[in-house]
Amino acid sequence: MRYISTRGKAPELDFDDVLLTGLARDGGLYVPAEWPKLTADDLKSFRGLAYDEIATRVMYPFVAGCIPEDDFATLVAQAYAGFDHDAVCPMKQLDPNAWVMELFHGPTLAFKDVALQLLGRLFDYVLSKRGERVTIAGATSGDTGSAAIEACRDRDTIDIYILHPHNRTSEVQRRQMTTVMAPNVHNIAIDGTFDDCQDLVKAMFNDQPFRDEVNLSAVNSINWARIMAQIVYYIYAGVSLGAPDRGITVSVPTGNFGNVFAGYAAREMGLPVDQFIIGSNSNDILTRFFQDNDMTAGDVVPTLSPSMDIQVSSNFERLLFDLMDRDGEAVNDMLQQFRASGRMPLEKARWEKACELFSAHRLDDSETLAAIGAIYQSSGELVDPHTAVGIVSGWLQRRDPASPLVCMATAHPAKFPKAVEDATGVFPHLPKHLADLYDREERMSILSNSVDAVQSEIRKSNRAGAPV
Ligand SMILES: *Cc1c(COP(=O)(O)O)cnc(C)c1O
Repeated sequence: MRYISTRGKAPELDFDDVLLTGLARDGGLYVPAEWPKLTADDLKSFRGLAYDEIATRVMYPFVAGCIPEDDFATLVAQAYAGFDHDAVCPMKQLDPNAWVMELFHGPTLAFKDVALQLLGRLFDYVLSKRGERVTIAGATSGDTGSAAIEACRDRDTIDIYILHPHNRTSEVQRRQMTTVMAPNVHNIAIDGTFDDCQDLVKAMFNDQPFRDEVNLSAVNSINWARIMAQIVYYIYAGVSLGAPDRGITVSVPTGNFGNVFAGYAAREMGLPVDQFIIGSNSNDILTRFFQDNDMTAGDVVPTLSPSMDIQVSSNFERLLFDLMDRDGEAVNDMLQQFRASGRMPLEKARWEKACELFSAHRLDDSETLAAIGAIYQSSGELVDPHTAVGIVSGWLQRRDPASPLVCMATAHPAKFPKAVEDATGVFPHLPKHLADLYDREERMSILSNSVDAVQSEIRKSNRAGAPV
């Protein structure tokens, strides 16, 4: 498979270069040159297969030419072997025609594991073949950091440095990162805010000599391979509920638009999906866009669903590319206007076309707490604040009540115990493999908010120049 940039000016790449490159050189995001197709017979043949078997078959066209099929099947099986449920992404019935799909059975209890557990292995596989090592750097306000650390731990070709704001993450979030004792994992607590951490990472990426010296890389949410891995569970859900003979409606709590874009990709590949419903919190730029064609960036406000506290959804660019009939120059112009004016102009006809498939709904924090309570009352399920936003948006926005509703559950309720307990009176416990999290030893370096300090910490321990 060849990949093209959404801004039309970067070189076409193969899968392994897209994996390691992340952002395209023209500032765009990579997408497949065309969507591989699954026929009705393909979908039927998935019935009854294990998750990792479906995963291999769905994803193989995207990596073909770079990774032999047997090797790929092994990587996929290993990625999902560590999930604490045999179905990997199990579905639970919520009401007569609605299901939750639990995407949080990976090591860090959030859906990012589904993609990152595979991504870490793909990085290691491709780098080992090339005889190269990378240094991965990232900033986290909590959740993404632990999923990235779990994905990269103990991989010989990777050293990972995750910056978090000292004393400003929740204890569960910090401990999920700092109790990982793998020698290639480095937690750095910065005396500053999350924005300071992000600025430090950006400064390192902008320092070209340093970037080359340590072979700096990232596993952020614009990486194509993350989307690829997320396509699988939409197909798994659809097939479980009767695809190709009937469609589903999907609701997704959305931040960067990565997860729901993977659902869109599944549909482009041939999965029958009647409607996508986007749930947002008070940071509602996507809801305003799909309700009023108003894409205007505002200020980020903190909410009970922090992983959706985002005002510019970077993966939306991939949908925009298709909405603009894959005209990279047009996408480039629109994004430049967005950057200059804070507003994204989209022609009415194209916006209406998008609205045939996508709807959106916003819940503020008090509505989110009420939602967690209502879901618990009606179904007995404890859900986290992100998931609750998605479920209620799905309930309120589904157009065809006969279309089975699949609500993506993106985090385990025990990751957000306070909100869940406030809403239901029930304290959600951590699953067994994390039950001793509060007793484990922690390791981190505490550094001042200074690029020099972080760079010298990285220089001390990274192995970018060492032979593989
Ligand atoms: C990252 C995250 C989201 C948002 O996912 P996107 O792909 O950015 O839309 C939602 N819920 C949880 C729990 C997350 O960690």
